[in-house]
Amino acid sequence: MSFTDILLEGLAPDGGLYMPQEYPQLSLDDYQILGEILVHDGYPRLAAHILSLFIDDIPMWDLEKITRQAYSKEKFGTDLIAPVTKLEPNLWLAHLSQGPTAAFKDMAMQVLGQLFDYELRRRSQTMTIVGATSGDTGSAAEFALLDTSRVQVFMLSPLDRMTPFQRGQMYGIDSPRIINITVPGSFDDCQDLVKEVNSDSEFKARFSIGAVNSINWARLVSQVVYYVSSWFRVTEGEGEVSFCVPSGNFGNICAGHVAKMMGLPVKDLVCATNENNVLAEFFRTGVYRIRTSTETFKTSSPSMDISKASNFERFFFDLAGRDSGEIVELFGQQLATKGVIDIRKKPYAGDVSQVYGFKTGVSTHQDRVATIADFYRRPGYLMDPHTADGVMVGREHAGEEPMVAMETALPVKFGSITKEAIGTVPEVPSRFASVMDTAQHTVMCDQGVDQLKGIIEQRSVFPPQ
Ligand SMILES: *Cc1c(COP(=O)(O)O)cnc(C)c1O
Repeated sequence: MSFTDILLEGLAPDGGLYMPQEYPQLSLDDYQILGEILVHDGYPRLAAHILSLFIDDIPMWDLEKITRQAYSKEKFGTDLIAPVTKLEPNLWLAHLSQGPTAAFKDMAMQVLGQLFDYELRRRSQTMTIVGATSGDTGSAAEFALLDTSRVQVFMLSPLDRMTPFQRGQMYGIDSPRIINITVPGSFDDCQDLVKEVNSDSEFKARFSIGAVNSINWARLVSQVVYYVSSWFRVTEGEGEVSFCVPSGNFGNICAGHVAKMMGLPVKDLVCATNENNVLAEFFRTGVYRIRTSTETFKTSSPSMDISKASNFERFFFDLAGRDSGEIVELFGQQLATKGVIDIRKKPYAGDVSQVYGFKTGVSTHQDRVATIADFYRRPGYLMDPHTADGVMVGREHAGEEPMVAMETALPVKFGSITKEAIGTVPEVPSRFASVMDTAQHTVMCDQGVDQLKGIIEQRSVFPPQ
């Protein structure tokens, strides 16, 4: 398949995930050259170079335009786009949350938005995104697609489950192409409605319905870039680093895995979770046991409240020697019927840590509160609860090499735990000053899928096919 077909399709027709036949292999010299490109020409040009290794049907010239549009100083508040700072000896923080919605999802979603617009224009098509969000994905997608013209968005969000800032950000958008839909219930209820709409193939075709969730290969590839930039900014091109990543759907850390497979000098990839510790349990025991939504705790790092990591089989594909039959057996059968995958007796069980460098750890609410308070006192850096999870777990695994924790959101999105940790709510950065007092726009959907389809038909700005 060509890259742009995969871009627009999302999930493969057999329900599987797309993977490249092989990873591009780069030498240390190549990475040093990429580092020079980062320093001299900037992040957008680095991004275009790395994307071009995976994209077979968009010319470099156009990719550079796409990444320049995606990563601008106006959107990210800094020319560096993803700066890295030192928190304490051997512990660094990669700032991935400087984008328009203050979460790392902007890093990939901004590129995705530009790629969609470019390809839909080339094909003279339009697209309707129907998605579900628990908070960060929805706003990142909406802001990424706001300044494009060929995509309309219907984004479902759970009533009363997002923070006031997240609501203000999403519902504050006033565009006929961006429709927020509030569903009484949980994120899973929203997700179920999206699945129901997608299972109506006639409706799906009529409105060219697409997806922006984290299984989209283009999102994953865009995230590889900041692993390379962070490595270079910390090491200046000499030596290894380890990364610690607050994880939910395994998208962010999977990009780190891809970077390692491409030869980037990465020692360990530390997968940090909150009390929803499905991934941590796997990395500790070799048993992957997914949970139901009622067994999923509501925590103070809500974007990681996930009990079935949608990108996990991508890593398994590499782990199992790229044997897709084995993946069908493990994910299509064992996981689907028993809810468990047990690899303890598999010949590749030991490779998880020894070859691929995965380590893990779990934070509790109290750990996150203590970590936020601790770093606020000493280096004077205020972090959000997801980042605090990564920093805390990263510290536990600190070795000789620099540990780089991934910042996944800014504290302004999560006022209440910040107040608990430091006694005051986070200061609102000036670019978000109006978020809380903008008029909010959302449509209620409390009567199931037919009502949802009605809303799409009524509000669609593109003529149905
Ligand atoms: C999405 C998100 C995560 C989890 O990232 P995955 O790629 O799903 O593992 C962590 N923290 C924040 C703030 C997020 O928005």
